[in-house]
Amino acid sequence: MPDVIVVGAGPAGSAAACHLARSGLDVHVLEKSAFPREKVCGDGLTPRAVRELLDLGVDIDAPGWFRNRGLRLIAGDRRLELPWPDTGYPPFGLTRTRHDLDDILARHAVAAGAVLSQNTKVTAPLRDRTGRVTGVRTDAGEHRAPIVIAADGASSRLSVALGLHPRRDRPIGTAARRYYRSPRHDDPYLEAWLDLVPAGYGWVFGMGDGTCNVGVALLRTAHADTRRLLDGWLARTPPDWGFTEDNAVSPLRGAALPMGYTRRPHYLPGLLLTGDSGGMINPSTGEGIGYALEAARIAAETVRAALAAPTPGARERALYTYPSAIRQANGRPFTLGRTFARAIENPLVMRAATRAGLANPPLMRFALTLLGNLTDPSADHLAAALTRLAPAS
Ligand SMILES: Cc1cc2nc3c(=O)[nH]c(=O)nc-3n(C[C@H](O)[C@H](O)[C@H](O)COP(=O)(O)OP(=O)(O)OC[C@H]3O[C@@H](n4cnc5c(N)ncnc54)[C@H](O)[C@@H]3O)c2cc1C
Repeated sequence: MPDVIVVGAGPAGSAAACHLARSGLDVHVLEKSAFPREKVCGDGLTPRAVRELLDLGVDIDAPGWFRNRGLRLIAGDRRLELPWPDTGYPPFGLTRTRHDLDDILARHAVAAGAVLSQNTKVTAPLRDRTGRVTGVRTDAGEHRAPIVIAADGASSRLSVALGLHPRRDRPIGTAARRYYRSPRHDDPYLEAWLDLVPAGYGWVFGMGDGTCNVGVALLRTAHADTRRLLDGWLARTPPDWGFTEDNAVSPLRGAALPMGYTRRPHYLPGLLLTGDSGGMINPSTGEGIGYALEAARIAAETVRAALAAPTPGARERALYTYPSAIRQANGRPFTLGRTFARAIENPLVMRAATRAGLANPPLMRFALTLLGNLTDPSADHLAAALTRLAPAS
């Protein structure tokens, strides 16, 4: 019997498996698809995600990774380039298709010693008489382990089967993306257009491989006509991007953005929730990969401590620290993010914020640091103080 079963081998699952295997634990990852496979995403990695990739030992100097310097914000006729803040994170972001990224991370976990079963769909949790999760069922049979990590994404069937439905008081957003061939595929800035719709934005992320990942994110609603929004926006992008139907190399595909801890608690006896299964996307930006990798690291640290505990009671106490460790890491910035996203649902606030913001680079730099959750508490006193004022709920 393995020490840990991980359900899902997206960024959260593979990172958790990698950390656990590296510390000598037996880990079995069950993944319903087979790598490499497509995953709908913007493919943008902020310095926060880069830090986690470096911590995992992923070789980001290998061919295929494309670095970016920061964010270019556009609203009306104003534009502003903001390099990533110098706050202790790596000074660059990356792009990499999820087709590649998830494959690389899954291989990385296997190289660290995890066992990966692909084409293996988890259909239900297994529980003992007390209700504790003791494993999972797949089409092929039953798998048991003292601890199970849910990393099965936004719809997390595993969590739903245990009664953990998305919270109604937390919005679920939506995003959709399409790839285009573009002469500007190697633009060194991630570009965000802020004047498309309240509480939403359009993005252009150069992939450095001849294409751009182009999409729209709506932070407050899962019901929207993303195709109409994207088409209307792309019709007014500068022609040098080349976003015409002829240059489209994929269909438009979208998926949900579970943000600001839409599903809680993050621990049920025997089961830890990581990444999208626990709604761990930043509510003000839609970024989820860095947070999934971070939660995976925290989950692995928690599990390692629990399995080293001398008694079953001490083990359980260690596991129960996981939700507060997650809240401690990002609860406050997520509360700020939810407040911000709610405010900019009002078109007047959105317009005022973007116009005034783009006219004031220091203010925008500050907002990027704060809302992008890239503050360095030891150096950035105001941002850190504002973050501390928000409750970690
Ligand atoms: C259009 C769009 C654009 C986005 N852009 C960005 C971006 O640019 N940057 C960013 O940081 N975030 C972005 N996000 C968010 C990001 O995609 C997610 O936060 C991230 O994928 C979460 O990783 P995860 O490992 O938790 O879940 P997932 O990546 O969803 O992985 C879950 C895994 O579990 C597997 N699985 C599911 N059910 C089962 C089952 N029953 N049995 C076995 N396996 C199962 C799935 O096949 C999958 O491999 C975007 C999201 C969308 C929808």
